[in-house]
Formats: sequence, structure tokens, C-alpha cells
Amino acid sequence: MINIQSDFSLKTHNTFGIDAKTDYFISFSTEEELLFFLNSSEIWKSQCDYLIIGAGSNILFTKDFHGIIFHSLLQSIEIEKESDEFVFIRAGSGVVWDNFVEFAVQNNLQGIENLSLIPGTVGASAVQNIGAYGVEAKDFIEKVEVIDLKTTKKLIFKNIDCNFTYRDSLFKKNQNFLVTNVTFKLRKSNFQFYLNYADLQSKLQNINNLTLIDIRKAIIEIRENKLPDYKKIGNAGSFFKNPVVEFEKYQEILYDYPNLIAYKLAEGKMKLAAGWLIEQCGWKQQRTKNVVVYPKQALVICNLGKASGKEIFDFSQKIIQSVYNQFGVSLEREVIVI
Ligand SMILES: Cc1cc2nc3c(=O)[nH]c(=O)nc-3n(C[C@H](O)[C@H](O)[C@H](O)COP(=O)(O)OP(=O)(O)OC[C@H]3O[C@@H](n4cnc5c(N)ncnc54)[C@H](O)[C@@H]3O)c2cc1C
Repeated sequence: MINIQSDFSLKTHNTFGIDAKTDYFISFSTEEELLFFLNSSEIWKSQCDYLIIGAGSNILFTKDFHGIIFHSLLQSIEIEKESDEFVFIRAGSGVVWDNFVEFAVQNNLQGIENLSLIPGTVGASAVQNIGAYGVEAKDFIEKVEVIDLKTTKKLIFKNIDCNFTYRDSLFKKNQNFLVTNVTFKLRKSNFQFYLNYADLQSKLQNINNLTLIDIRKAIIEIRENKLPDYKKIGNAGSFFKNPVVEFEKYQEILYDYPNLIAYKLAEGKMKLAAGWLIEQCGWKQQRTKNVVVYPKQALVICNLGKASGKEIFDFSQKIIQSVYNQFGVSLEREVIVI
């Protein structure tokens, strides 16, 4: 049943644990419930502001939200079709992402195992084009179903029409599109593992006849060692994107900092490791009363318990400023600031 709550605390709906409130929190378990609300609700007709939220693991609330927050609880996982090589699985946007990965791995379906343990929901995996360890969600998404909140039309986008780029998609830009289901194309034979990362290789090097379970286990171990558990220390994973610069700019920085960490991209551009830039500015040693850079990974900003969203935002602003002052590079936030 659709659940409409007013003056609702978001504290348990964002991984920073910020106690912001929303005027209305609407959770729905079927598309019909959502459509009924959109077609009949006086609150919705009043044209108020709105936002879609999954698990809130990439959102920083710096203030209360005056409007409606939509929250999908669509939970189905079903096999749509299969061929000799592939299985097409359609999952509801409210499914917990890591439960979906676990489902795929347990059924020996290959593709998304490197994305194990990323917090959030299936819906947001397409919005964000989540990525880790050389793999992005877009590599396995076949199609994305949405409801246009403004027109109430159901639309289906094939992968090629989703405009997927680094942590970005059509759905991130168009806030009217509420993702309802995502269909993934996973391999049931001719597995193609992605094991280029050194720490992943070293964990798996002694295993013969590698299985998806081995890879998932290794990824989980690596992530648990590197990243803070948001259930204990509030955070949203990487706070900043890795900045992309022209080759000349990269060379300029490299001249002064020979140990610069960077990756070559197409068209001669370079992606710089934002965590490295932040570390060089001395942020690993700095903190305020309630906010700190995670000692093992400078890209992650943590709420030590009592920080406000504004405090975290101001802290991130100081990091951006100091990286710019030292390197002339502008960091962009990966986290969505409300
Ligand atoms: C400890 C930690 C580690 C992380 N590691 C990674 C990582 O390795 N790689 C990575 O890519 N990300 C990582 N993240 C970020 C985060 O997990 C992803 O961005 C995730 O996809 C967010 O999912 P969510 O359901 O919490 O989305 P939310 O944070 O709730 O929302 C994110 C965006 O998606 C939109 N959205 C959510 N659901 C829908 C929907 N159904 N329809 C339309 N729009 C929707 C929201 O409006 C918002 O714009 C990490 C976060 C944490 C806390």
C-alpha cells in the first residue's frame, strides 16, 4: 500500500545520518500505487518541489526538504528471457543493490560481481551508473523503465539511449524520470572476468578455477578494509569525482609532483586521482569537531556522529579550495547536495 508520511525525518534514509526533514515522504510498492498518487493527490497537484530517493547513499542534506520525496519499494526480480549465453533479469528499483548482486552470483550469472557491496538500490545503479574495480553498471544494463512524474507516462530506454557516462545518465539529468525497473544482461557462459586491479589480483592469485563467489568475496574483503561502514560512521563513499584534465595540465603537475597518480583517457585527457590530490594538501590530518577525512581513503568524508549537513558541505568546500590553490584543479562533488 502507498504510504504517505508528513514532516518525516530522513535520518535513517541517508547514509550520512543527517537528521533533515521532508514535508512528505511517499513510499510505494507497485507502479499502480505511484500512478494513483500522481493522478489523484491534492499534494502533488499543488505543484510542490520533489525529489526521488533510494537509500540516500549519495545524497547530502544541508537543510530540510520542502516538498515531496518519492521512495520506491518495487521489489521484484524476474528472468525476462534467456539465450545460450545470456540471461536478461528485470529488477525493481527498490531492490537493495547488493542483494541483487548476491542473487546474480548465487545463480552463477556473471557481470556485476565487481560491483559487490556498493550501497544503494537497483534504481539508483542506473541513475548513477555506479562503478568499481573496472566495471560500470552501464556495461550490463539492457534497458531502464521509468514513469515520467509529470506526464505519468511509462517509458522504456534502451542502453544506448540512457546517455551513460562516468557516474551520470539521462535519468540523473532529468529529474522527472522515476526509475521503476532495470533489466540487466548477464552471462551464463563464456565468463569475462575483470581482474585488472592489483589488490584484486593479489587476493585471487592462488585460487584455481575461479568462481563468481570467490570474486565477490574478494571484493567485499577489499571494500570492508578500505571504506568505512556507513552504519557505524556516516559517509557517502567518494565525496568527489576524479577530475579530468588536459594532458598539458597533467604534465605541469607531474613536473612538481613526480608521484602524481593519474589514468590515461581517450582524446589525450588524463583523469587524476582526487584522493591523492586531497592527501597532498594535508587533509588526512585535518578535521573539525564532527567531520573528518577517512584516514584510509581521502576521498571519503565522514560524519563523526553529530555533524550537520551544512558542516559537511563547508568542510568539502575547504577541500575544494585547497586543492585548487595547490594544483589549479577544480574538484567536483560526486555527492548530490540538497
Ligand atoms: C560506503 C560507500 C561506498 C560507495 N561506493 C561506491 C562505489 O564504489 N561506486 C559507486 O559508483 N558509488 C559508490 N557509492 C555511492 C552510492 O552507493 C551510489 O551512488 C548508489 O547508486 C546510490 O544509491 P541510492 O539508492 O542510495 O541512491 P540515492 O543516494 O538515494 O540517490 C542517488 C541519485 O539517484 C536518484 N534516484 C535514486 N533512486 C531513483 C529512482 N528509482 N529513480 C530515479 N532517480 C533515482 C536520486 O534522486 C539521486 O539523484 C558509495 C556509497 C557509500 C556510502
